[in-house]
Amino acid sequence: MQTLQNATRTPEGVVMNGFTLSPAIDKCEGCDRLAEFDGETFCSSYPNPTSKWSGGRCNFATHVKLEVAAAAKVNPLKASKRAAKGR
Ligand code: SF4
Repeated sequence: MQTLQNATRTPEGVVMNGFTLSPAIDKCEGCDRLAEFDGETFCSSYPNPTSKWSGGRCNFATHVKLEVAAAAKVNPLKASKRAAKGR
């Protein structure tokens, strides 16, 4: 895991580039953008991972892209036509 660059520990929390960072959440586990700082894990791209996932999958997550690519191979229209024909 990479180490957060330019981050500093302040009384308000860990701050990087003027943003106060919230720690990474469970769903971030396995993402390449995770970075470690001072014994905690943060996202190197977003200050608040919880809000990145609040509307569904984080669009910058590197660890869930493969699943999406595999799912995209199934064309829903063709699949429903096949199902309608009973094969
Ligand atoms: S890019 Fe998304 S999934 Fe990856 S660590 Fe950041 S918030 Fe988590």
